[in-house]
Amino acid sequence: MRGKVYLVGAGPGDPELLTLRAYRVLQEAQVVLYDRLVSPDVLELVNPKAHRIYVGKTRGTQTQAQEKILSLLLAYARSNQQVVRLKGGDPMVYGRGAEEWAFLAQHQIEVEVVPGVSSALAAPALAGIPLTLRGVAHSFAVVSGQIAGGLYPSLERVAQAETLVILMGVERRVELAHALIRLGRKPEEPVAFVERSTTPHERIIVSTLAEVAAGGAAVEAPAVWVLGEVVAHRLPTGAKGHRAIQTLAF
Ligand code: SAH
Repeated sequence: MRGKVYLVGAGPGDPELLTLRAYRVLQEAQVVLYDRLVSPDVLELVNPKAHRIYVGKTRGTQTQAQEKILSLLLAYARSNQQVVRLKGGDPMVYGRGAEEWAFLAQHQIEVEVVPGVSSALAAPALAGIPLTLRGVAHSFAVVSGQIAGGLYPSLERVAQAETLVILMGVERRVELAHALIRLGRKPEEPVAFVERSTTPHERIIVSTLAEVAAGGAAVEAPAVWVLGEVVAHRLPTGAKGHRAIQTLAF
């Protein structure tokens, strides 16, 4: 069998949210290279005979780590292995999936992408927050909160979306909240952070943009940040037992 790389989305954490294709590919894999945000429960579904390689990155080592990942993918595919490159959520959403695909294609390696359930969609949904709601919000945008150099070109472009979903936005939330208010969002607008969605440690923190700007929202990464009127229309999420919902003072 010729080597092939499957670029697979692992979803937000709960293995029940894997696609059937992802499940099958994980069962048949010979090598699995996985990221930091891939949950241990998903890893349990990997073929027990597969070689598992953790390639999660820490800040400062990213460029080097990415080169290493590319060379590992290439080496395993060239030695005729069935390789799974497993990423949290969807592999084409902030996961450098496209860069890895392009690199492998350049080297004539076959690539199959297996889309995953992105945390941008799953975390709000599971927290009972609709991204669109008739009469309330007819558009949503997803943006990264990691902004280099203090410039906000992407944020400026999407700042007016009725619902704004921010990934990787926990660390710089105070700065981002100030920027969003400057860009015209109302300080009293409701926000929610969905922390560690689908894990036993999930928390939903509801606040306002003004309060986030004032440093009042205690949140830990990874979390999906939702901003917009839809947050005020949050639906009951049922008795999941582990869900701690914390509402800060409005
Ligand atoms: N490809 C991924 C996103 C990678 S960027 C996807 O489609 O989901 C990493 C960011 O995703 C984190 O900073 C956080 O904002 C979000 N994220 C990923 N998994 C999450 C989870 N289980 N709960 C909350 N946020 C999550």
